[in-house]
Amino acid sequence: MSVVIAIDGTSASGKSTNSKLVARELGYVYVDTGAMYRTLAWYCLEKKVDVANDKDVALACRTWKTKLVCVSADGLSSVRLLVDDYYPEKEIRTPATAGAVAQVAAIPKVREWMKRTQRDCVRFGNLVMEGRDIGTNVFPETDYKFYLDAKLEERSARRAADGVQENLAARDQRDSQRATAPLMIALGATVIDNSRMTSVETSGRLIQEIKQRMKAVGVPKAS
Ligand code: C5P
Repeated sequence: MSVVIAIDGTSASGKSTNSKLVARELGYVYVDTGAMYRTLAWYCLEKKVDVANDKDVALACRTWKTKLVCVSADGLSSVRLLVDDYYPEKEIRTPATAGAVAQVAAIPKVREWMKRTQRDCVRFGNLVMEGRDIGTNVFPETDYKFYLDAKLEERSARRAADGVQENLAARDQRDSQRATAPLMIALGATVIDNSRMTSVETSGRLIQEIKQRMKAVGVPKAS
Protein backbone atom coordinates (compact mmCIF):
# COMPACT_ATOMS: atom_id res chain seq x y z
CA MET A 1 0.00 0.00 0.00
CA SER A 2 1.37 3.39 -0.95
CA VAL A 3 1.67 6.34 1.39
CA VAL A 4 0.06 9.54 0.08
CA ILE A 5 0.98 12.93 1.49
CA ALA A 6 -1.77 15.41 0.64
CA ILE A 7 -0.77 19.06 0.35
CA ASP A 8 -3.67 21.37 -0.39
CA GLY A 9 -3.98 25.13 -0.22
CA THR A 10 -4.67 28.43 -1.90
CA SER A 11 -3.03 29.59 -5.15
CA ALA A 12 0.64 30.56 -4.80
CA SER A 13 0.78 29.35 -1.19
CA GLY A 14 3.99 27.47 -1.92
CA LYS A 15 2.45 24.07 -2.58
CA SER A 16 4.63 23.21 -5.57
CA THR A 17 7.95 24.34 -4.15
CA ASN A 18 7.38 22.65 -0.82
CA SER A 19 5.80 19.49 -2.20
CA LYS A 20 8.86 19.00 -4.42
CA LEU A 21 11.23 19.54 -1.49
CA VAL A 22 9.32 17.01 0.61
CA ALA A 23 9.17 14.48 -2.25
CA ARG A 24 12.93 14.78 -2.83
CA GLU A 25 13.71 14.39 0.85
CA LEU A 26 11.51 11.30 1.28
CA GLY A 27 12.20 9.78 -2.14
CA TYR A 28 8.48 9.94 -2.99
CA VAL A 29 6.88 10.68 -6.35
CA TYR A 30 5.60 14.23 -6.82
CA VAL A 31 2.16 14.78 -8.37
CA ASP A 32 0.92 18.25 -9.39
CA THR A 33 -2.84 17.85 -9.78
CA GLY A 34 -3.26 21.52 -10.73
CA ALA A 35 -1.19 20.73 -13.82
CA MET A 36 -3.75 18.08 -14.78
CA TYR A 37 -6.64 20.54 -14.61
CA ARG A 38 -4.54 23.09 -16.47
CA THR A 39 -3.83 20.48 -19.15
CA LEU A 40 -7.54 19.96 -19.72
CA ALA A 41 -8.15 23.74 -19.84
CA TRP A 42 -5.33 24.12 -22.39
CA TYR A 43 -6.65 21.19 -24.43
CA CYS A 44 -10.14 22.76 -24.56
CA LEU A 45 -8.71 26.10 -25.68
CA GLU A 46 -6.65 24.33 -28.34
CA LYS A 47 -9.60 22.35 -29.63
CA LYS A 48 -11.94 25.37 -29.47
CA VAL A 49 -14.16 23.71 -26.90
CA ASP A 50 -16.19 26.37 -25.08
CA VAL A 51 -15.02 26.19 -21.46
CA ALA A 52 -18.34 27.72 -20.36
CA ASN A 53 -20.19 24.72 -21.76
CA ASP A 54 -20.04 21.97 -19.13
CA LYS A 55 -21.31 19.26 -21.47
CA ASP A 56 -18.74 19.99 -24.16
CA VAL A 57 -15.90 20.09 -21.66
CA ALA A 58 -17.09 16.85 -20.04
CA LEU A 59 -17.19 15.24 -23.49
CA ALA A 60 -13.66 16.43 -24.25
CA CYS A 61 -12.51 15.02 -20.93
CA ARG A 62 -14.19 11.69 -21.60
CA THR A 63 -12.65 11.29 -25.03
CA TRP A 64 -9.18 12.89 -24.95
CA LYS A 65 -6.24 10.50 -25.35
CA THR A 66 -4.12 10.72 -22.23
CA LYS A 67 -1.40 8.75 -20.54
CA LEU A 68 0.25 9.02 -17.12
CA VAL A 69 4.02 8.66 -17.03
CA CYS A 70 6.57 8.99 -14.25
CA VAL A 71 9.80 10.82 -15.12
CA SER A 72 12.92 11.36 -12.99
CA ALA A 73 15.24 14.35 -13.18
CA ASP A 74 17.53 16.11 -10.69
CA GLY A 75 16.69 13.69 -7.89
CA LEU A 76 12.94 14.10 -8.27
CA SER A 77 10.43 11.69 -9.74
CA SER A 78 7.22 13.25 -10.92
CA VAL A 79 4.06 12.24 -12.71
CA ARG A 80 3.10 13.85 -16.00
CA LEU A 81 -0.20 13.73 -17.82
CA LEU A 82 0.44 13.42 -21.54
CA VAL A 83 -2.19 14.27 -24.18
CA ASP A 84 -1.69 12.55 -27.52
CA ASP A 85 1.76 11.65 -26.12
CA TYR A 86 2.61 15.34 -25.64
CA TYR A 87 3.47 17.12 -22.39
CA PRO A 88 2.31 20.78 -22.61
CA GLU A 89 4.70 22.02 -19.91
CA LYS A 90 4.88 25.70 -20.92
CA GLU A 91 1.43 26.02 -22.48
CA ILE A 92 -0.40 25.22 -19.24
CA ARG A 93 1.22 28.22 -17.49
CA THR A 94 -0.10 30.93 -19.86
CA PRO A 95 -2.61 33.59 -18.69
CA ALA A 96 -5.21 32.10 -21.07
CA THR A 97 -4.96 28.70 -19.40
CA ALA A 98 -4.93 30.21 -15.90
CA GLY A 99 -8.04 32.18 -16.82
CA ALA A 100 -9.96 29.08 -17.96
CA VAL A 101 -8.85 26.46 -15.47
CA ALA A 102 -11.13 27.19 -12.49
CA GLN A 103 -14.17 27.01 -14.77
CA VAL A 104 -13.15 23.64 -16.15
CA ALA A 105 -12.30 22.40 -12.63
CA ALA A 106 -15.81 23.17 -11.34
CA ILE A 107 -17.45 20.59 -13.63
CA PRO A 108 -18.46 17.45 -11.67
CA LYS A 109 -17.72 15.00 -14.53
CA VAL A 110 -14.26 16.52 -14.91
CA ARG A 111 -13.61 16.13 -11.20
CA GLU A 112 -14.70 12.47 -11.34
CA TRP A 113 -12.24 11.82 -14.15
CA MET A 114 -9.46 13.66 -12.34
CA LYS A 115 -10.06 11.82 -9.08
CA ARG A 116 -9.88 8.44 -10.82
CA THR A 117 -6.73 9.45 -12.67
CA GLN A 118 -5.08 10.91 -9.59
CA ARG A 119 -5.84 7.85 -7.47
CA ASP A 120 -4.32 5.75 -10.22
CA CYS A 121 -0.96 7.47 -9.57
CA VAL A 122 -0.29 5.12 -6.62
CA ARG A 123 0.94 2.64 -9.21
CA PHE A 124 4.13 4.75 -9.30
CA GLY A 125 4.74 4.34 -5.53
CA ASN A 126 4.51 6.60 -2.49
CA LEU A 127 3.26 10.06 -3.40
CA VAL A 128 3.41 13.70 -2.43
CA MET A 129 0.31 15.07 -4.15
CA GLU A 130 -0.56 18.75 -4.22
CA GLY A 131 -3.87 20.33 -5.11
CA ARG A 132 -7.10 21.72 -3.72
CA ASP A 133 -9.08 18.62 -2.72
CA ILE A 134 -6.52 15.88 -2.13
CA GLY A 135 -7.12 15.55 1.62
CA THR A 136 -10.87 16.11 1.37
CA ASN A 137 -11.78 14.18 -1.75
CA VAL A 138 -9.06 12.37 -3.68
CA PHE A 139 -7.32 10.59 -0.78
CA PRO A 140 -9.53 11.33 2.26
CA GLU A 141 -8.21 8.15 3.90
CA THR A 142 -4.61 9.38 4.17
CA ASP A 143 -3.08 10.13 7.59
CA TYR A 144 -0.96 12.89 6.06
CA LYS A 145 -2.94 16.03 5.31
CA PHE A 146 -1.60 19.55 5.10
CA TYR A 147 -3.09 22.89 4.14
CA LEU A 148 -0.80 25.73 3.10
CA ASP A 149 -1.83 29.35 3.02
CA ALA A 150 -0.31 32.84 3.07
CA LYS A 151 -1.64 36.37 3.04
CA LEU A 152 -3.04 37.46 -0.32
CA GLU A 153 -0.50 40.30 -0.74
CA GLU A 154 2.32 37.87 -0.09
CA ARG A 155 0.99 35.32 -2.56
CA SER A 156 0.43 37.96 -5.24
CA ALA A 157 3.97 39.23 -4.68
CA ARG A 158 5.33 35.69 -5.14
CA ARG A 159 3.51 35.28 -8.45
CA ALA A 160 4.63 38.74 -9.59
CA ALA A 161 8.23 37.80 -8.76
CA ASP A 162 7.79 34.84 -11.13
CA GLY A 163 6.61 37.30 -13.78
CA VAL A 164 2.96 36.26 -13.52
CA GLN A 165 0.24 38.87 -13.01
CA GLU A 166 -2.98 37.21 -11.99
CA ASN A 167 -6.08 37.88 -9.93
CA LEU A 168 -5.46 35.14 -7.38
CA ALA A 169 -8.36 36.22 -5.17
CA ALA A 170 -10.82 35.59 -8.01
CA ARG A 171 -9.44 32.09 -8.65
CA ASP A 172 -9.43 31.24 -4.92
CA GLN A 173 -13.01 32.41 -4.67
CA ARG A 174 -14.07 30.24 -7.61
CA ASP A 175 -12.20 27.26 -6.15
CA SER A 176 -13.72 27.73 -2.68
CA GLN A 177 -17.28 28.33 -3.82
CA ARG A 178 -17.81 25.58 -6.37
CA ALA A 179 -20.34 22.93 -5.38
CA THR A 180 -18.16 19.88 -6.09
CA ALA A 181 -15.04 19.29 -3.97
CA PRO A 182 -14.38 22.95 -3.13
CA LEU A 183 -11.10 24.15 -1.69
CA MET A 184 -11.33 23.71 2.07
CA ILE A 185 -9.29 22.54 4.99
CA ALA A 186 -9.56 18.77 5.39
CA LEU A 187 -10.57 17.40 8.77
CA GLY A 188 -7.38 16.65 10.67
CA ALA A 189 -5.14 18.66 8.32
CA THR A 190 -2.21 20.62 9.68
CA VAL A 191 -2.58 24.24 8.57
CA ILE A 192 0.59 26.19 7.87
CA ASP A 193 0.48 29.92 7.16
CA ASN A 194 3.86 30.52 5.55
CA SER A 195 3.46 34.28 4.89
CA ARG A 196 6.63 34.90 6.87
CA MET A 197 8.39 31.60 6.33
CA THR A 198 11.01 30.59 3.78
CA SER A 199 10.51 27.41 1.78
CA VAL A 200 13.30 25.78 3.79
CA GLU A 201 11.33 26.53 6.94
CA THR A 202 7.99 25.42 5.48
CA SER A 203 9.30 22.18 4.01
CA GLY A 204 11.29 21.53 7.21
CA ARG A 205 8.10 21.82 9.22
CA LEU A 206 6.26 19.50 6.83
CA ILE A 207 8.99 16.88 6.91
CA GLN A 208 9.22 17.01 10.69
CA GLU A 209 5.46 16.47 11.05
CA ILE A 210 5.40 13.72 8.45
CA LYS A 211 8.19 11.83 10.20
CA GLN A 212 6.49 12.19 13.58
CA ARG A 213 3.27 10.87 12.15
CA MET A 214 5.04 8.01 10.42
CA LYS A 215 6.37 6.94 13.79
CA ALA A 216 2.90 7.19 15.29
CA VAL A 217 0.95 5.35 12.58
CA GLY A 218 3.68 3.04 11.22
CA VAL A 219 4.74 3.18 7.58
CA PRO A 220 4.29 0.15 5.31
CA LYS A 221 7.70 -1.24 4.30
CA ALA A 222 8.69 -0.82 0.65
CA SER A 223 8.13 -4.12 -1.17
O1 C5P B 1 -2.30 24.55 -8.43
P1 C5P B 1 -2.64 25.30 -9.69
O2 C5P B 1 -2.67 26.77 -9.50
O3 C5P B 1 -1.82 24.89 -10.85
O4 C5P B 1 -4.13 24.85 -10.00
C1 C5P B 1 -4.84 25.36 -11.08
C2 C5P B 1 -6.33 25.23 -10.85
O5 C5P B 1 -6.72 23.88 -10.96
C3 C5P B 1 -6.88 25.68 -9.50
O6 C5P B 1 -7.09 27.07 -9.40
C4 C5P B 1 -8.18 24.91 -9.42
O7 C5P B 1 -9.19 25.56 -10.17
C5 C5P B 1 -7.84 23.61 -10.12
N1 C5P B 1 -7.49 22.54 -9.19
C6 C5P B 1 -8.52 21.89 -8.55
N2 C5P B 1 -8.27 20.80 -7.76
C7 C5P B 1 -7.01 20.39 -7.57
C8 C5P B 1 -5.94 21.07 -8.19
C9 C5P B 1 -6.22 22.16 -8.97
O8 C5P B 1 -9.68 22.26 -8.69
N3 C5P B 1 -6.78 19.30 -6.83
